[in-house]
Amino acid sequence: MHRSGIKVLLLEASGTLGGKLRTDRLDGFLLDRGFQFALPGYRAFSREIDLPALQAKPFAPGAIVLSQGRMREFRADDPIGIALSRLMSVGDKVRLKAYDESLAALDFDDLFGSEDCTAETELRRAGFSEGALDRYFRPLYGSVYLDRSLGFSAQLMRFHAKASLGGGAILPSAGMGAIAAQVAEYLPEDAVVTGCRIVEIVREGGLVHGVRASDGTVFQAARVVVATDGASAQTLVGVTAAPTRANTCIYFAADRAPYPDPLVVLNADFEGQVNHLAVTTNVCPSLAPPGKHLIAATVLGNPSEEDGPLARSVLYELGQWFPKADTRTWSPLAVYRLESAQTWHAPGFAAALHPTDLGGGLLAATGAFPSTLEGAVRAGMTAAQAILRTREPVTA
Ligand SMILES: Cc1cc2nc3c(=O)[nH]c(=O)nc-3n(C[C@H](O)[C@H](O)[C@H](O)COP(=O)(O)OP(=O)(O)OC[C@H]3O[C@@H](n4cnc5c(N)ncnc54)[C@H](O)[C@@H]3O)c2cc1C
Repeated sequence: MHRSGIKVLLLEASGTLGGKLRTDRLDGFLLDRGFQFALPGYRAFSREIDLPALQAKPFAPGAIVLSQGRMREFRADDPIGIALSRLMSVGDKVRLKAYDESLAALDFDDLFGSEDCTAETELRRAGFSEGALDRYFRPLYGSVYLDRSLGFSAQLMRFHAKASLGGGAILPSAGMGAIAAQVAEYLPEDAVVTGCRIVEIVREGGLVHGVRASDGTVFQAARVVVATDGASAQTLVGVTAAPTRANTCIYFAADRAPYPDPLVVLNADFEGQVNHLAVTTNVCPSLAPPGKHLIAATVLGNPSEEDGPLARSVLYELGQWFPKADTRTWSPLAVYRLESAQTWHAPGFAAALHPTDLGGGLLAATGAFPSTLEGAVRAGMTAAQAILRTREPVTA
């Protein structure tokens, strides 16, 4: 919008831009506020974000799965390893290949049109065994949608699985916050106000006139795009906020990585607290000072222990995961507790998505698309395009 000559003002409640995509610097380590990654298979995201400029590096496709106390690699780029793997039965491996092939043949736009059910129902209908659900799909989707129940929408599982076919997950060399920083670079400095919480949309006769900040300041605008978290959007414009899932990310510094590969470790043993772990420096060495490694362990939910005891109990657990690594020498760096890390999309959620343009000059990006990085980009682009299409005065 800015490049098209429209005057834009970005009002952000917190002290920095980026929302869930922020990276903190601590003693030369780059810590994302909660371990996450992007998928190059996200179409709008990959089109709008300059990934080469971010020097984004890929994870290998697949995972290391901790199952019955053993680490088992399961890599899509290693067909012989998959054939020999005892993680899944031969039948489940054949079903997984067939499922992926069926998604490859579909267009992204077809994924949300069909009837919805839980991911678990879909996987059972596809014939996957209990073992495949427990040892692969629960920890995998625990790491993506932060819940191991597989009770979320099958449409969203298809979306993630299809986007993953386009290549392994990626991490920008300077952390996920670099994505938001790149978008912010398009705006001149005076177009951004941080520390500005909006508490009211100002309207008159059904038309938007601007927004009111918590200190009473009114910013006048002919059009307002609400691109907040769900709870704030519910308060501001009345769209229903979907429930969310919490997660807690504990970062450790180590002199040696516990394994060398650019892979996420998934915990398929229903013991302990950690659902997944990544040595992020195996993907991007730039995330730690030279000679150091950065390890991100993710616990689903928000444990009641204080940060110190939590980091210690996680470290004890990781000592059992990696008996050959001297985890006693790992130092806890930070604990991030994210109360609303991911939106919970239950089956049928697509019917509750609303059009971006609510009329009268009000646009709500939040809640208009599935809540993913791809959804955030598509929502922003849709709102911008709607504004660019109708530059004439708005009517109620
Ligand atoms: C740990 C974790 C793992 C994730 N994993 C994945 C993944 O694997 N794949 C994926 O696609 N997505 C993932 N996500 C989700 C993804 O990060 C989000 O969907 C995306 O960043 C949402 O962006 P957003 O801009 O819509 O919202 P947000 O990032 O929530 O930004 C909203 C902004 O609005 C501001 N705000 C709120 N209220 C007000 C107000 N009243 N006035 C002014 N400003 C306000 C907030 O401060 C914030 O900066 C993950 C998220 C987390 C935290």
